[in-house]
Amino acid sequence: MNCIYVLRLGHRPERDKRITTHVALVARAFGAQGFMLEGDDRNILATVKDVTKRWGSKGFKSGAVNDGKAYVEKWKRGHGKVAHLTMYGLNISSMPRLPSPKKLLIVVGAEKVDRWYYDNADYNIAIGNQPHSEVSALAIFLDRLGRGRELDRGFAGAKIRIIPQKAGKKVVGR
Ligand code: SAM
Repeated sequence: MNCIYVLRLGHRPERDKRITTHVALVARAFGAQGFMLEGDDRNILATVKDVTKRWGSKGFKSGAVNDGKAYVEKWKRGHGKVAHLTMYGLNISSMPRLPSPKKLLIVVGAEKVDRWYYDNADYNIAIGNQPHSEVSALAIFLDRLGRGRELDRGFAGAKIRIIPQKAGKKVVGR
């Protein structure tokens, strides 16, 4: 059983609302089991809980942490590994083996990530060494970890789900 959590650092409530929400939604949709936000933004956490309630996977955990560094240290004490996504890291394409998803914390930043994370992560991984976005980096990394199979999972307890259509929209309720 995998245990992948995503830690979002550096959230600025006045400007990152949408992108941080997307980080959380990608975490849930692409196979992570939890999303932790450093700092607090009740609206984002409420949105994530609402999506989880309606679209399923009640096992998906989300919450806020005061101190990202303390959370990383606790994760490591619990024998988890930490992968920090950064354009300065080792390109994922050059890594002979990916980290194990058994207990993995994925750290993504916003504007600038404190040097401490580079030094304390088990892996500093670049999804290509070009600047792009925490949303794209997380999605690609989770897809590589899940080998694409995460897209075929069911979402237990869903109240609504999509019946895929070649054209048009079909959504059914329970
Ligand atoms: N200086 C940052 C960095 O280290 O990647 C770029 C800031 S970027 C706006 C915000 C976040 O997006 C970063 O903290 C990182 O998690 C993620 N990110 C952006 N480009 C990336 C890349 N090529 N590989 C991995 N993560 C990336």
